[in-house]
Amino acid sequence: MARVPLIAGNWKMNMTVAEGVTLVKELMPRVDGLGKVEVAVCPPATALHAVGRALADSQIALGAQDVFWAASGAFTGMLSPPMLIDVGCTYAIVGHSERRGRFGKPDESLSPEAAQVFGDTDASVNLKAKAALGYGLSPIVCVGETLPEREDGRTDEVVAGQVRSCLAGLSAEQVAGLALAYEPVWAIGTGRACEAPEANRVCGIIRSVVRDAYGAAAADSVRVQYGGSVSEKNAHDLISQPEIDGGLVGGASLDATKFSQIAQVASVIAKDMRYA
Ligand code: PEP
Repeated sequence: MARVPLIAGNWKMNMTVAEGVTLVKELMPRVDGLGKVEVAVCPPATALHAVGRALADSQIALGAQDVFWAASGAFTGMLSPPMLIDVGCTYAIVGHSERRGRFGKPDESLSPEAAQVFGDTDASVNLKAKAALGYGLSPIVCVGETLPEREDGRTDEVVAGQVRSCLAGLSAEQVAGLALAYEPVWAIGTGRACEAPEANRVCGIIRSVVRDAYGAAAADSVRVQYGGSVSEKNAHDLISQPEIDGGLVGGASLDATKFSQIAQVASVIAKDMRYA
């Protein structure tokens, strides 16, 4: 099997330019040269350019935390795929649950009016994924159920529906080249990761949805990551699962030691196991 695990760090709304550059300077010697793993960091927009320059001679890829679907125009505050490519991005996260207004740790201070700022839907995520691919950026498409959806027994239906809607209209080749991140919303930022066998089961469902809609070749190539409280401690359990092709890492990606340990674990698993 040819899939190479992808370990992507989502820095969220953290890190000044100077802090971000320092972090990748600590990361590069620990991660560059690792075989059979791809590593990416997704800084906030303000740090993309500087971090991209710091990564110039590194194997670590640069990703954005979101992308808009139009190339340019009257879209105040948005960033287009060509703008992200201009600063060195090759990846863009799309449809993160926080951008959909679905939070692992509910914020009581967020009124419904204020929450509307996090307005992504499957339809907007689909536009973003299409636009990213159209310009040559690889989307990391996030899906996952909330705790009430899980408790209602609706996990599989919710996740499968998100995958179908977010990927609608893409070609099998496009789907083969992107990454899907299974991120149970209740596991994000809570320190409560999904149990590895259950994460593996849902990642397998995601792959089977891809197989049904886009064929076996796309299903065998698409990378399905797990995200939600991944740490250097649980990384081996999660990433050694056969359906899990790496991780989308939030909190632990802000620490060079922890994040590089996760990348090292993925590299060793990939060399030892199914990626040989
Ligand atoms: C994330 O930001 O996508 C994420 C999974 O965060 P954390 O690892 O902090 O749970």
